Amino acid sequence: MNNKQKFLQVAIDVPINQLFDYLPNEEPFSIGQYVTIPFGRRKLIGVICGISLSSNIHPSKLKSVINVDPEIIFDAPMFKLLTFVSEYYHYPIGQTIMSVVPSRLKKNLNQLRQFELIYQATPKLTKAFINQLPTRQLRIRKVAKELLNADLRQTDVMKLVSNWSECINQLEAYGCLKSKKYEPKVNVPTAEIPTLNDEQKSVINAITKKKGYQASLVFGVTGSGKTEVYMQLIEHILKEPKSQALILVPEINLTPQLENRFRTRFPNQKLVSLHSHLNDIERLDNWRKAKSGEASIIIGTRLAIFTPIPFIKIIIIDEEHDMSFKQQDGLRYHARDVAMVRAKNINIPIILGTATPSLESWHNAKRIDNKYNFLKLNYRAVKSASLPEIKTVLVNDKTKNGISRALVDAINDRLERKEQSLIFINRRGFAPTLFCSSCSWTAECKRCSSKLVVHRKVNRLKCHHCGHDQNIINQCPACDSMGLHPLGSGTQKVEEALNKLFPEASILRVDRDTTRSKKSLTSLHDRMNNREVDILVGTQMLAKGHDFPFLTLVGVLDADNALYSPDYRAPEKLFSQLIQVSGRAGRSNIKGQVLIQTAFPNNPLFEGIKKHDYEIFAQTLLQEREQMGLPPFSFTAILRVESKQLKHGEKFINDAANYATSLSNKVVIYDPVRPSIERLKGYERFQLFIQANARKDLKNLLRQWVTYLRKYPLANRVKWSIDVDPVEF
Ligand code: ADP
Ligand code: ZN
Ligand code: ZN
Repeated sequence: MNNKQKFLQVAIDVPINQLFDYLPNEEPFSIGQYVTIPFGRRKLIGVICGISLSSNIHPSKLKSVINVDPEIIFDAPMFKLLTFVSEYYHYPIGQTIMSVVPSRLKKNLNQLRQFELIYQATPKLTKAFINQLPTRQLRIRKVAKELLNADLRQTDVMKLVSNWSECINQLEAYGCLKSKKYEPKVNVPTAEIPTLNDEQKSVINAITKKKGYQASLVFGVTGSGKTEVYMQLIEHILKEPKSQALILVPEINLTPQLENRFRTRFPNQKLVSLHSHLNDIERLDNWRKAKSGEASIIIGTRLAIFTPIPFIKIIIIDEEHDMSFKQQDGLRYHARDVAMVRAKNINIPIILGTATPSLESWHNAKRIDNKYNFLKLNYRAVKSASLPEIKTVLVNDKTKNGISRALVDAINDRLERKEQSLIFINRRGFAPTLFCSSCSWTAECKRCSSKLVVHRKVNRLKCHHCGHDQNIINQCPACDSMGLHPLGSGTQKVEEALNKLFPEASILRVDRDTTRSKKSLTSLHDRMNNREVDILVGTQMLAKGHDFPFLTLVGVLDADNALYSPDYRAPEKLFSQLIQVSGRAGRSNIKGQVLIQTAFPNNPLFEGIKKHDYEIFAQTLLQEREQMGLPPFSFTAILRVESKQLKHGEKFINDAANYATSLSNKVVIYDPVRPSIERLKGYERFQLFIQANARKDLKNLLRQWVTYLRKYPLANRVKWSIDVDPVEF
């Protein structure tokens, strides 16, 4: 049996939905291992997904793998999940697998290390030794000098010089350096554990009562103690030997905060985080700690759902409604939905927590068949912290600088009382466009159909879609008039207006232009907590999770954009955003206030918000969705197409629409349309929305459709993708 010819079925990162057969080389092999293989004239990296005793291709025509990496990347349950994901999202199996593994594994197969190293100088390394090194060994000298001062982590050396591994090898050869495994030191005080209130207790009881798979929706107002519930659940789970917990969070910006809270609570557990602020080595290292079972708590953003976690006993999705769980390119998966399947596959509980459930989850929780456990936390956990008062303030075009009198007065009150205010505007930059008052010309991006945003501090016009960046102009290119002026307002303009209104106040702007690093967010917290800031101006970055004890006023400047959007999810997004922002006010014992500026104060959406009543709002929206046959009452997908030339995309999408129409009468095929940004980065864009009442009809159609599109003759002139369960239009 052992002597029989075996064939390896290998997944490769190519847009063909199949595994590729290869012959083994001399090395031992097993499923889940990386291999280097010849593919055409290239050398590629793939993963062994199957081993078989036969192949449709004659062995004489098959090539052998070049090398096999000993590390096993995936276990069987992960393969099962990835196969499901590939089929569900209609994304080629090889690309599915290759897009979820830590990137360094893909790139440097030969440089693989099992862990990060830390380097120490040996006694041989002295100033004198460095000085006698050849002057051209500039980088080696640089590393050596640093090493004299302190031990260096591998990741530090990588930041120091480009050819870091050569430098290290050379210093090692000189006998100047030795290395050992890097072990991060964590010295954390143990946090005091609050006694759970009755609501929290009953949530925990409901979840722990049942063994095995069960989905629970924990619907709790901001500050109701959801995180506390997660922590106590995890504590309960980790009492059993060999257990691991996975917590998914929407934003990398939030992970450090949550991570700290968990670290202080669980000083004796190994905790790792997985998100894109980590460099490749840190990420790989943490991923391996999860995979080996060494880490018991894993906190990560959406991609972390694909981490192999052999002893996983619970999955928690914090802020489950957040759209950032959905990947918007490549493999367009929704981490919450994948998590649900994963939990079901391996029969463990999954917890979805939020103050504003997605309508999908809400619907599932409210179904009569009790698909989900529906658990509620009605009150803020800290008794003295009540929910803020929410009011609308009428504004119109004449409102000066877009800031109403009522808001100015409210800010003044806060300044007098030494409390803090947050002014929220969902647009960064100075003004959303540059406008000519003589001929109405506006500055547009040449590569995208969008307006260029005025950034006055740096005197530039920037496209927020493609990153195009140019000097500001003073003269209208259309009519030569000098009457160009910024129109509308963004964070910078609001900051400027506030500076004029409150010259004594200390004002801090927080948006993507000011916070490039995670350090800046940490220092934001320190500055807020030390009351060095009176007024914060910021974008949605500030809406989530941040906890500022002295913040008692939130002003929302531009809520109206979403009220009349063509995107049917816009009201849901706006509501949850407003509730999240409101959640920032009055977290401690000072009562908070929220002022929402709007030209449409009678919109029913605001009624629900004022009462903090998500239920009424969700029920109303769900009824609307049901009447219109929209999700969660139907199942949808979008075909997205991009082409350099208009005619190619147009032809492709029309043919695709015709073909889809011929496939099924159970699936509604809408007319192809242009998305709101018609042109992006020089590509013309098209999209086609399809909808079915049954998931299986949608799935059947997609399968045939995708097969057709992959073979379509024009396919190399267009880029296309299928987005299953889309959240953006
Ligand atoms: P959420 O995640 O729902 O926003 P948190 O878990 O962050 O809420 O709790 C909000 C605040 O209330 C935190 O400061 C937390 O320490 C505190 N808290 C939570 N549960 C309790 C409790 N049972 N007793 C006292 N304080 C609590
Ligand atoms: Zn003009
Ligand atoms: Zn652009």
